[in-house]
Amino acid sequence: MRLILLGAPGSGKGTQAQKIQSEFGVCHISTGELIRQNIKDKTKVGVMAESIINKGDLVPDNIVIEMVKNILSDEKVKDNFVLDGFPRTVAQAEALDNITKIDKVILIDTDTQETKERMLKRKICPLCQKTFSDTLVCPNCNVTLIKRDDDNEQTIDERFMVYEKQTKPLVEYYLKNKLLYKVDGNKDIEQVFKDIKCILNEGKV
Ligand SMILES: [Zn+2]
Repeated sequence: MRLILLGAPGSGKGTQAQKIQSEFGVCHISTGELIRQNIKDKTKVGVMAESIINKGDLVPDNIVIEMVKNILSDEKVKDNFVLDGFPRTVAQAEALDNITKIDKVILIDTDTQETKERMLKRKICPLCQKTFSDTLVCPNCNVTLIKRDDDNEQTIDERFMVYEKQTKPLVEYYLKNKLLYKVDGNKDIEQVFKDIKCILNEGKV
């Protein structure tokens, strides 16, 4: 299956993508991870991305698209992936359409106010990097949780503004192409995953 996961900041998109990978054996392609891997492997686009990041700029569309194109040309990946963090814009979605055919797009739909409040409360474990919002000590490592630098009200508001502006038109785009499926992301992680599984098993005998 060739999937895209869409969702606002804090929607648990990455977590669900991991779960889809474990359950269905598809390759989880996270844009952040993809960029890091290219930099580590010193690919042509990785070297370009590194110098851009070092200047403090965002990696531009054409470079990210090239990285996606490269990984999707892999025999093992090309018909068996879930994209997380890409596409982010309609322009990227159009570029992706020229690379491959997408089967389903799943939108994890969340309540903005509730998610913002949860993100403000959340803390991260300095050891295992897991996030929690209902405890002060990591239950796995038994160390005090810390606040993430980017989890303050202003940066959270900014991330939501960028999402509204760039990603919302994507939802319209995939709705128009009849590829969009919605799940209620306000439910707990396991329930959201159950709903996603239903969508993915649909149409298969
Ligand atoms: Zn921990």
